[in-house]
Amino acid sequence: QRIRVGIVFGGASSEHDVSCMTAGGVSRAIDADRFDVIGIGITPSGRWVQVPADELRALRKQGDELPRLSESRATAVLLPGEAGGARVATIEGDRLVDLHDFDVAFTLLHGPFGEDGTIQGMFELLGLRYVGSGVAASANGMDKDLMKRHLSASGLPGCRFVTVTDRQWRQQREQSIDRIAKLGYPLFVKPARGGSSVGITKVDRADELEQAVLFAQKFDPKLVVEEAVLGAREIEFAVLGGRGAAPRVSLPGEIVMREAGAFYDFDAKYVSDDDAALLVPTEMDDDLRRRAADVAARTFEAMGAEGLARVDLFITADGHVLVNEINTMPGFTHISMFPSLWAASGLDYTTLITDLIDQALERPVGLR
Ligand code: ADP
Ligand code: MG
Ligand code: MG
Repeated sequence: QRIRVGIVFGGASSEHDVSCMTAGGVSRAIDADRFDVIGIGITPSGRWVQVPADELRALRKQGDELPRLSESRATAVLLPGEAGGARVATIEGDRLVDLHDFDVAFTLLHGPFGEDGTIQGMFELLGLRYVGSGVAASANGMDKDLMKRHLSASGLPGCRFVTVTDRQWRQQREQSIDRIAKLGYPLFVKPARGGSSVGITKVDRADELEQAVLFAQKFDPKLVVEEAVLGAREIEFAVLGGRGAAPRVSLPGEIVMREAGAFYDFDAKYVSDDDAALLVPTEMDDDLRRRAADVAARTFEAMGAEGLARVDLFITADGHVLVNEINTMPGFTHISMFPSLWAASGLDYTTLITDLIDQALERPVGLR
């Protein structure tokens, strides 16, 4: 029996266009012998709309232009369906038209409202199966403060950090600065809930701290301030795993910054072609690779992640493995790190997509 996959994409975030491009790529690569796709788009203003399969497959980069969803489509809604599925319908006046049932949701959204447990909560309420982590793992993975507390409680290694809320910065400024200064400079100031390096500053000196804090607070009232891990390799693993099965870990990838002292900031990720090189896979001696892959697998399990996640590590010059972060909805275009690492590890894009959907279909719905 054919399986109908609702591809949820777009979103009212800065990553709208990337998400549209990803949705196009996934719907072209998906195994057409087993799956039908239904496009469920979220426009830049946050409205839900239906996108027919052929239009979904046509979403791609054209020249330098990334695809976007137009606001001209009529608003759609999700409704409960049967047996772990849901239905999508378009609102026409006071009627619902163009009803489509589907069996499983594959969300290709990044950041707030996509990767942070909110949409996962909506799927749970609908009784709809979906690819990827559940509510708690998504929310804890998105929030660097909660993530670090989970990891340290599970005995996983990370760098030293402090959390600073907007209230603490306003009302306990001296204590906050003291706590931060104990980490030593340079340090990294980050919005707790963010991604794509947005809002992050590397702070070299105390007199640059205030500006970095005010900048990060534009994105989140809660901040995480970390000691800078200097001279370390930046290593990433792609992890796959379902309930009841041990996580599968890919070969390692590496981010190499061209300029010493630079970090993997927004420009290096999306704008400039030559700030950073991605090595897929990267060379690493066997013992170190095994130790690092084990940390990646334990991070996935400690966070309660499901389906997929990319675990990003630092490996210091003396061989210490530190967890930087987990991303429960990593970049997923066919050239992104996550699919590239699996391709290098013997799982091509189409098989990877099938694997994720099959995992989602095995997931129980309702209370568990
Ligand atoms: P995001 O979730 O936005 O990707 P990260 O925490 O991964 O945020 O930080 C972005 C980048 O900043 C990392 O890929 C790394 O290059 C650099 N970075 C972050 N934290 C540190 C740290 N403590 N020490 C050294 N570099 C860091
Ligand atoms: Mg991240
Ligand atoms: Mg990161």
